[in-house]
This record gives sequence, C-alpha cells and structure tokens, in this order.
Amino acid sequence: MSEYDYDFAVIGGGSGGVRAARMSASFGAKVAIIEGAAMGGTCVNVGCVPKKLFVYAASFAESFEDARGFGWASTRPAFDWSTLVDAKNREITRLNGIYESILEKAGVDIVRGFAAFEDPHTLRVDDRTLRAETILIATGGKPWWPKIPGHELGISSNECFYLESLPERIVIAGGGYIGVEFAGIFKLLGVDVHLVHRGDLLLNRFDQDVRRHLTEEMRNKGIHVHLGQTIERLHRQGSAIVATLKNGESLEADLQMAAVGRRPNTAGLKLEAAGVDVDRERGAIVVDDDFRTSTPNIYAIGDVIDRLQLTPVALAEGMALAKTLYGGTPTNVDYDAIPTAVFSTPNVGTVGLTEDAAWHRGHECTIFRSVFTPMKHTLSGRHEKTMMKLVVCAETDRVLGVHMVGPDAGEIIQGFAVALKCGATKAQLDSTIGIHPTAAEELVTMRTPVS
Ligand code: FAD
Repeated sequence: MSEYDYDFAVIGGGSGGVRAARMSASFGAKVAIIEGAAMGGTCVNVGCVPKKLFVYAASFAESFEDARGFGWASTRPAFDWSTLVDAKNREITRLNGIYESILEKAGVDIVRGFAAFEDPHTLRVDDRTLRAETILIATGGKPWWPKIPGHELGISSNECFYLESLPERIVIAGGGYIGVEFAGIFKLLGVDVHLVHRGDLLLNRFDQDVRRHLTEEMRNKGIHVHLGQTIERLHRQGSAIVATLKNGESLEADLQMAAVGRRPNTAGLKLEAAGVDVDRERGAIVVDDDFRTSTPNIYAIGDVIDRLQLTPVALAEGMALAKTLYGGTPTNVDYDAIPTAVFSTPNVGTVGLTEDAAWHRGHECTIFRSVFTPMKHTLSGRHEKTMMKLVVCAETDRVLGVHMVGPDAGEIIQGFAVALKCGATKAQLDSTIGIHPTAAEELVTMRTPVS
C-alpha cells in the first residue's frame, strides 16, 4: 500500500487548480483538490465572470441612448442594482455547482477548508491531515494596496461585486485594467466617477496609442481621470470619504475603491514547513519552466507565480502540468503573443508587441493606424471613435502586434491572435478579403503606413 493518500493534491479550486486536478485525474492519477472558499476561484466568483456580467448591464445605458438615432423614441428605463446583483449571484452559484460536478465526475476528491503544509508531502486542512506524493499550489492572488492613512476606509474589487446599493460618487485608485473596467461600469450605471492613476496615461504596459485613445474616450464619457496622481490619505467627513491626492486636491465620494494591484496569495500556507521559496519583492512562488518550486515534489501555477494574471494562462499552465506529470507528454506553456482584452468603455483588445516593445527588441517597424467613427455612431450621434493599429516588422513583413480600442475589441482580436501565432505577414492581411460592413475589416484594409 502507498504511503500517500493521493498521487496529487491540489491547493486551490480556481482556474488553474481545477484544470490541473481534472486533467490529472483523467490521466489516471488519484487526485484531491482543497478549496477553502467557493469553487471556481477568482475568475468565477470575483473576477472575469461577474465583471463581464456587470459590463453587459452597464452597456445597456449607452444602447438606450444610441437607439434614439435609429427611431426608437425611448426614455431611459430605470435601473435596479439589487436585481443585477441577485441575478449575478444566482449565475455564480450555478457555476460553482458546475465546477464541483465536473471535478466529481472526473473522480477528484473535494476537500473543504484551507490547507497548510506540515512537511513537503503533508497538508493540514482543519483537523485533517492528508499526504500526497505531489502537491500543486494554485492559490491565486488577492487585492493589495498601500497602507496609506485611512486605507481601511477603502474597498477592493471583491467587495464591489456585493455592494448593497450603488454609490452616487466613487473614487477609484488605479488605472490598470480592473480600475478602468470598474470606472466604466460605475459611470454607465450613473455614478460620478473619479479615477486616480499614477502614470501619465491609463493602462501601463499597453501600446501608447491604445493608452492615449482610451484615456481620451473615458474622459469624453465624463469620467474624471486624474493622471500623475496618487491618493495620499483617506478620511471620513460625515457620511462621505475624502481622498487627498498628491497635488493636495480633495475628492469627496461615498465609496473608495483600490485597484492598484494584486499580490500572490500564500498567506497561511506555511510554505517554510515545505521549503518552498518565494521571491522577496512580490511574494510570488518561484518556479522553473516546468512549474517546479524549490521543493522537487511541489509545483505552483497561476496568479501565485505572478507571470501573467489571466484565466486562460492559469488554465494553460494547469493543462501543461497535468500532461507533464501524468499524461506522458512533457509540455511547456508558450507565453508569446497572448491576446488580452480590457472590458473598459470602449473595449481594448491587444495581441503581440506594442510599438515601443517592438523597437526595444530591435525591430525596424512600420506602423499602420486608423481612427474612425464606427458606422453605428453615424446615426446614434455618439462621439466615440475606434482606434486600430498594426505593428509590422519592416524587414520580414511579419505582423508583430495588433491593437484596438473600440466596441467588441476582445472578440475581434481573438481571431487576429491566431493569425499572429501562425506568423502572419502584412501582405497576408492585405490579401485577406474583409467582411463588409464591419469595423474589423479595417484591420485588413489599412494600406498606408503612418510611420
Ligand atoms: P484563483 O482563481 O484566484 O484561485 C485560487 C483559489 O485558491 C481560490 O479559490 C482560493 O479560495 C483558494 N485558496 C487560497 N488559499 C488556499 C488554501 N490555503 N487552501 C485552500 N484553498 C486556497 N482574467 C482574465 O483572463 N480575463 C478577465 O476578464 C479577468 N478579469 C478579472 C477581473 C477581476 C476583478 C479580477 C480580480 C481578476 C480578473 N482576471 C481576469 C484574472 C483571473 O481571475 C485570474 O488570473 C485567475 O482567476 C487566476 O487563477 P488561479 O487558479 O491562479 O487562482
């Protein structure tokens, strides 16, 4: 009889952990998954899914306005926040159940509770101990914000999903993707939004044209964007919260949301008992290309290793690890040209290199860019422009990056991600017939470089 209860124990039932557990079991391993909260992790409970449902809810506000230009003499219907939150909660509960049944059907044992290491093969979950030959840490990340005076008055995105009522005014700290997405959601739902960002444009690390265009469009929609600023302190004034900025300006609001970053979640794991190293700077678990930690039988994937904090990346890592450990096919994850979308208003979609990154990597670049009014807004009257950009290697003609700000950018860029993976050249985009009339056709009809 084996000295272990399980071949494989997975800590964390989020995107990465569930995928790794399920696939490993399908390859024949005896697997347990330990989850202390709702199954599905950040993505399902307080991330991608509820966020996108809120984005849909918010988008109706503009649709009602746009409809008038097309002959719909509508007045704007009333919006009820608690109806939205209740409906969202029901959907999340449904998804929690689906995740559990997928695991059960795959033969994975679900262990409820938070796990801590006793030694490299032994985990304690409440009053139970569990021994496994191989252990995976997939405990994700959690919101982080600096301990400025009054920081305890602020909330994170986690709490925004469960607000009892909509505030009239909100101050959001952080112009990364979570900050800009919530700024759009709240604004369209009728909240007065102040967005405070340290950088000179929103969305650090994205292409400069994307950053410029999105910042301008969000301002056009009436979001108060404060650039080059940080919140230095928060204090209460009656029922309001006052945020004092670096420049001395005071912003009064009913709610303050911090979206300045997320950190790997290793709290309570007692990693020292298992000899698992974390990096000093951000606390991420250190792994090699095969996701192996400093302790040979312990692996880590997903947000806790802090590579790219995206659900499809955690899924790919979980899949690669299961194949390597139990599927007989050693597999690595290719982190090149990972597409991503920001569900801001308007959306951002991007894949491949930014113009700056392409130059830094030594590519001589040709840039194609188009800024235009989408056809829908010729009648809706909305002053919103779409921006599309191609970064092309002048030497090889390969398309290095595709960037877009505009409606459905994520849906459009997904297809171009396939093209980039296949090594598409600009000549191949040029020879592709467009679909007319769409916005996406612009990406295959841009002929004149702008630089
Ligand atoms: P998680 O999904 O965070 O799962 C970790 C799990 O481990 C949690 O369920 C936690 O309860 C559990 N756990 C922690 N410690 C223990 C322990 N000691 N014992 C047992 N269980 C434990 N990504 C996208 O791709 N697209 C998006 O649109 C998107 N939107 C997002 C919006 C928001 C507001 C946020 C916060 C994130 C968003 N993300 C998005 C990121 C995405 O949610 C994460 O990258 C992804 O969930 C990471 O998966 P994971 O498996 O690493 O961790």
